[in-house]
Amino acid sequence: MSIEKKVLNELNEKLINEKKRIEDELNRLGKPTGSPGDYKTKFNEIGRSVDENASEVEEYTDNLALENTLEKQLKEIDEALKETEDETYGICKNCNKEIDIERLRAYPAARTCIKCK
Ligand SMILES: [Zn+2]
Repeated sequence: MSIEKKVLNELNEKLINEKKRIEDELNRLGKPTGSPGDYKTKFNEIGRSVDENASEVEEYTDNLALENTLEKQLKEIDEALKETEDETYGICKNCNKEIDIERLRAYPAARTCIKCK
């Protein structure tokens, strides 16, 4: 692996911060189900009128989609964090070439290089 230790530490720190941000957001949107990285979207009661019920469903649907996206990101971050430990970080999952460092800086949890994106 050709990523400098210093850069790797910097990316590792970014991943940890990003993980924290996503977990906060997931805790706001839902409740942990007990299995790691899995959340259940909360259904907020706004009111009892037809309009209010429609808003509730709409909000829930939006949150559900957002929650799924965040869970997916969280999974990628966990994988990337694991790779920084066993030194397989920064390798494209599709073509096995090294991912451009600038791409990793912009998106430390990247699973693939720009070409395979
Ligand atoms: Zn690739």
